[in-house]
Amino acid sequence: MTHSETILPDLPDSEQIRELRFHLRSLQQDLAASIARLELCLPLPAMEPATAWRLRETVATATAAIEHDARHHVQRALDLVSVVSGGADHAPLEVEPAVMPSLTAPVDPVSGATRDQLERALGDALAALARAQAIIVEIAATQGDDAATLRARVSIAAETLWRVAWPAAQRCLALAQVLHHAADPAAASDEARADELATPLREVAIDAARSLSSCPRCGAPLAAEDRTFDGSYCESCRTRFFQLEPRTG
Ligand SMILES: [Zn+2]
Repeated sequence: MTHSETILPDLPDSEQIRELRFHLRSLQQDLAASIARLELCLPLPAMEPATAWRLRETVATATAAIEHDARHHVQRALDLVSVVSGGADHAPLEVEPAVMPSLTAPVDPVSGATRDQLERALGDALAALARAQAIIVEIAATQGDDAATLRARVSIAAETLWRVAWPAAQRCLALAQVLHHAADPAAASDEARADELATPLREVAIDAARSLSSCPRCGAPLAAEDRTFDGSYCESCRTRFFQLEPRTG
């Protein structure tokens, strides 16, 4: 090493420890960036179309980063810390597909209640991120070569990100979207139209689904922008064509 290691300085320089350091470093950087982003949102700006859009974009960027940290970096850190601390099995953190909190009460963007809810949700998200950040910073600075002491703390950081910070950030995003739509009704109806257009009415398995030059159903021309990852999408009749699985054996 050409520089002195600052993350887990006393642990051996094995491949797994290097990867663990990488994830801890990424978490420190990402959490600091997400905190800075969400802090920029407070106090909430006046809801003009442009400011409401920027607010929503800022919250969306932070929410995506928090999800990445919760799904990837902290999970991987937990795997690695379990391996290096003696290989004992750990139960992987349950990843539920639908953590998205629903907005419990009907939101009325005009009354100011939605702003209050968003301010509270931003406060919740920031508090959870600060807790996770403090734990990660403390883990990274741990001295001594006993990796087993790290596991419980990495697990708490993972739980905090997954169960508290991410749901709070999703709630912020849902509320920011409500406020943006209230501030910019034209953008809201454009989005609703685009969503509707992008929602297939039917799905059809077909050979060569990614190279169709016209829609087999309605005849509309299909071009490069109509390709999806596994086929093509016809906006005219809202049909999704997807590739048949190649036959094996
Ligand atoms: Zn069609």
